[in-house]
Amino acid sequence: MKSYSEIFVDGEWSRPSGTNTIDVVNPTTEAVCGRIPACDANDAERAVLAARGAFNQWSRTPKAERIEYLLKIHQGLKERAGEIAKTITDEVGMPLKLSAMIQAGSPIGQFKGMARTTEAFSFEEEVGNSRIIREAVGVTVCITPWNYPLHQIAAKVAPALAAGCTVVLKPSEVAPLNAFILAEVIESVGLPKGVFNLVTGTGTEIGEPLVAHPEVDMISFTGSTGAGRAISAVAAQTIKRVTLELGGKSAAIVLEDADLTKAIKGIFGACYINSGQTCTAHTRLLVPESKYEEAKTIAKKVAESWTVADPNTENARLGPLVSKDQWERVQSFISKGQQEGAELISGGEGKPEGLETGFFVKPTVFGQVNPKSTIAQEEIFGPVMSIITYQTEEEAVSIANDSIYGLSGGVWSEDQEKAIEIAKQLRTGMVDINGGNFNPAAPFGGYKQSGNGREFGSYGLEEFLEFKAIQL
Ligand code: NAD
Repeated sequence: MKSYSEIFVDGEWSRPSGTNTIDVVNPTTEAVCGRIPACDANDAERAVLAARGAFNQWSRTPKAERIEYLLKIHQGLKERAGEIAKTITDEVGMPLKLSAMIQAGSPIGQFKGMARTTEAFSFEEEVGNSRIIREAVGVTVCITPWNYPLHQIAAKVAPALAAGCTVVLKPSEVAPLNAFILAEVIESVGLPKGVFNLVTGTGTEIGEPLVAHPEVDMISFTGSTGAGRAISAVAAQTIKRVTLELGGKSAAIVLEDADLTKAIKGIFGACYINSGQTCTAHTRLLVPESKYEEAKTIAKKVAESWTVADPNTENARLGPLVSKDQWERVQSFISKGQQEGAELISGGEGKPEGLETGFFVKPTVFGQVNPKSTIAQEEIFGPVMSIITYQTEEEAVSIANDSIYGLSGGVWSEDQEKAIEIAKQLRTGMVDINGGNFNPAAPFGGYKQSGNGREFGSYGLEEFLEFKAIQL
């Protein structure tokens, strides 16, 4: 049990204004595994003023100094990598082996990667008679979700610090324990006081006061599209810069000439990872109508190879969902899929046999899914795949684009150039060809209601920078 009673504000740990707390539940055991403060508007005020107080000095530090801090944070996190992986497995439920790579390895690497990006980045250039200077946007509030908690935090905090912004972090109340480890590391490297502040609690109690605060210049948000909408409306009152990384309902198109088995295996990987709780999950699998029967047989076999088990065990590929709420939500989508007439190929409602404790779900596959139906349109955030058939490539593109979202997608074909031509027609921020790997130097973000703004690499750094034009 990890209990935290203090928040990190202005370079030190202190009691929040109220005494309310939030329990963190381990989704594998359903037992409480942590407790954090439920902060309120008074704490928001204190944290924002601390960040404001630190801004002038921090934003004027030479970039070499900021890079040094990023590298020290990287080192401090690296020394606690095992603890980070285990903490996130306990609060989110991702299998420990994967958690070590993705939940710990990736964010740790991001601090080093951002140091390199900043090193190469030019903060000044001459254009005609102007000197164009890139300056920190200001006091930044980072609000993050639970699914890849430290990864999402690092994607904001590392570039914000690199840009010279000061930060108030409000992590998800569902998986907040990892954020305390980051704050401890930041304290240990001696970052100037007020540059990084950690407050915890719910979206309404502490998130909204932070978003509304007039001393905040920027909100960097990752989470649901609904919360993104609410945040944008509040932030608009003070014309803050808002970047949003929101939900998705990404489609992977398997072209006629693709290796069907390889494609289906790859697409299930992109759908089921983290028990389907991934914003970029490829949850709609589009196959030519003529290949449906073959695709169905392969998909059933692939889904069944995803062993659901305690995430602390060696053979686990799928852990539980993060919470009871999430479990119920996913169950209702599985039920809805059947009601709306999709063909249940594998899985279904209820818990897998022998896993009655924990928020486990059966890896589920639906076939003959109507592209207009609920399970084809809404983000489920569970291991639920929808197979949709198409007759022509034009139709495949049109089905893929028939979504309020536009985050990610995939194209599978033996002909890479043709796949790229299809990728260009998809209204999404990212497309993987034949399962192309995640690239932390490439821009990450969405079109349409998947958000705006980009994270990672120099694109992510630029989100935290203003332009200033000085005419000479
Ligand atoms: P959520 O929107 O419920 O919460 C995200 C964060 O916002 C939490 O810290 C929460 O406390 C806070 N919050 C909620 N309402 C708020 C409000 N009105 N004002 C201020 N803060 C508020 O999302 P979640 O359930 O934690 O995460 C799952 C969602 O996140 C999914 O929709 C997923 O697609 C999305 N997501 C997107 C990306 C991306 O990069 N596009 C990455 C990961 C997750």
